[in-house]
Amino acid sequence: MAEPLLHAFAKPTKTDFIRIVRGSGALLWDDKGNEYIDAIGSLWYSQVGHGNAEIAEAVAEQIRTLETYSTFDPFTNEKAEQLAAKLVTLSPLPDSRVFLCGSGSEAIDTAMKLARVAHVQAGHPEKTIIISRNRGYHGTNYGGTSAQGLPLNKIGYGQLLPEVVQVDSDNIEDLASFMKDNGARVAAIITEPLQGAGGVYPPADGYLEGARKLCDQHGAFLIFDEVITGFGRLGTWFAANYYNVVPDLLCFAKGVTSGYQPLGGVFVGRTALNALERDPDFFLRHGYTYSGHSSVCAAALKNLEIIERDGLIERAKHVGKRLSDGLHSLAADGIIDSVRGAGAIWAAGLKPDQNCLTIRDTMLKRGAIVRSINADTNAFCPPFVITDQQIDTLLDIFAAAAQGK
Ligand code: PLP
Repeated sequence: MAEPLLHAFAKPTKTDFIRIVRGSGALLWDDKGNEYIDAIGSLWYSQVGHGNAEIAEAVAEQIRTLETYSTFDPFTNEKAEQLAAKLVTLSPLPDSRVFLCGSGSEAIDTAMKLARVAHVQAGHPEKTIIISRNRGYHGTNYGGTSAQGLPLNKIGYGQLLPEVVQVDSDNIEDLASFMKDNGARVAAIITEPLQGAGGVYPPADGYLEGARKLCDQHGAFLIFDEVITGFGRLGTWFAANYYNVVPDLLCFAKGVTSGYQPLGGVFVGRTALNALERDPDFFLRHGYTYSGHSSVCAAALKNLEIIERDGLIERAKHVGKRLSDGLHSLAADGIIDSVRGAGAIWAAGLKPDQNCLTIRDTMLKRGAIVRSINADTNAFCPPFVITDQQIDTLLDIFAAAAQGK
């Protein structure tokens, strides 16, 4: 008999899944009592680690007071406002405001729609094209499916959004030449500063600066998708800080709550805001039932407090260095081919005779969870609270699995 739950990113016919039942810090346990080191933070989101009682209490207290109330006009709620006020103090976009939603995919749709409508409000309705990069992942709503540069994820869903085009992932000349021919009609360039789910690829030297310059030249918005890189993952609050390139809009999700509640959002910078605020009669017809959900915002506020109080962004740098040192020495010893990453997100590039799925499955049997991407990559994105000893154990488990032992 088919299982009632139709799993995300899985074969609909598959029935045997690993049932995770409990977590604490960087450790997880399944229903058979097996222990795992979570080296990928579930799906790249667990900054403060699992089983955090302080966040549980903050959410419970909010639900006891008021689970939530709508933020559609004419209403607002206290937690949404408090979170927005906190977030804009962290935002790398000067003088920004924040739009809240429920996921990374909703953040992407929001940013794409805001970019287009801001150009309409600025008197440029012809600026509708959105450019993204090959190998990019921007979630699975129709906006993100159209913008992502992973062709397999686009098959079978009918016609995707028109006027959303992909350019080469690394060669800025490809983007420059598209902009030269079509710049007057471009609404935005959307990119992950460091591409995550596509295989952990930091940007080519000068790429982000080049994209920024092209946007300025052609009056297009630069949108950073920081759904993975936001909230300390690179050892800075945002990748925009790490790479020192400031976008016009910035999408976030995941680490903003460490996954304790589903939350996404978009920082909207001054250029787009000026257009949206220009006509006092303009009404923004966009929003989600759970935009600014109070108990979700309570989780985010507590999560951000913990990241700051416990110095977890500094800790992320330490975790990333220990992990990358270990992976680099495996590459130096010829056990893997190469290493890619930054901050606390890393990937092992494998040799042609290695298979990332086999390595992942061997590691699962030995108590560590990594991600396999394409055929040649295992990815690491652990909670910032992972201990040094857990990192070392993880590296030992990986090294053995990579050698087929
Ligand atoms: N953008 C990036 C860079 C992501 O990595 C993801 C998810 O992994 C998304 C967008 C979509 O986020 P969600 O799955 O919360 O909709």
